[in-house]
Amino acid sequence: MNKVLFRFLIFILVVMAIISAIREVNWFKLFQIEEVSLDLEKKIGDEIWNSMKITEPMDSSVARIEFVNSVKNKICLSNHFDTASIKVHLVNRDIINAFAMPGGHLVVYTGLFKKCKSAEQLAGIMGHEIAHIQEKHVTKKLIKEVGLSVLVAITGGNVEGVKAVIEHLSSVAYDRKLEKEADLKSIEYLDAANINPVGLAEFMEELDKMDGELPEELGWFSTHPESKERAKYIRTKVNSINKKYPPLNSNWDSFKN
Ligand SMILES: [Zn+2]
Repeated sequence: MNKVLFRFLIFILVVMAIISAIREVNWFKLFQIEEVSLDLEKKIGDEIWNSMKITEPMDSSVARIEFVNSVKNKICLSNHFDTASIKVHLVNRDIINAFAMPGGHLVVYTGLFKKCKSAEQLAGIMGHEIAHIQEKHVTKKLIKEVGLSVLVAITGGNVEGVKAVIEHLSSVAYDRKLEKEADLKSIEYLDAANINPVGLAEFMEELDKMDGELPEELGWFSTHPESKERAKYIRTKVNSINKKYPPLNSNWDSFKN
């Protein structure tokens, strides 16, 4: 074989090997990227929600929709968050769950209205999920556990990626440190909004009583383990604030119908 041609072929092979090696490298992991731009996060979140809302039945109860939005607005206004940055979606399913998605989308299931014994309990859960959004836990978790390449593919309409993210966010717990941070932030947000934050502890105690039953609908139970221990530190923190709060809604049972 011609010597020049042989060298050229070797050169091509080396270039191809380098290209394939570069493609194998997970650059996001290598540079420990934990965050993406707000714009990209919004695109990812909007894409996920757009695909979810096609299949999910939305709650049509004006009272319930107004309730979740009023809690969101109270939390946002008293803590100086842009109210438009959090979008609450009330999905009409008997599931005891709520979860935050990228781009400020917060999914709340109507099953929570039945399970919560007071308005403050649901407000506590919402405060906790809003903290996951405000503290940028959602995207950090997804980049670490699902991978940024999957998230980026979602903006190009990757249906499998959307499914994987919804499944992950609705059923896999955050790590303990982030969970505690969200619990404590929820107390802070609700206190600023003059809503009794003890509701979150009460709800955790309710979950603890259900341990062992674990029906499929218990999403928040599986994503928020160690409820007894958490109820304890939440109560301790709320007691240390030592404040009287007005009732958030004294006609809570009317929301259950
Ligand atoms: Zn959480």
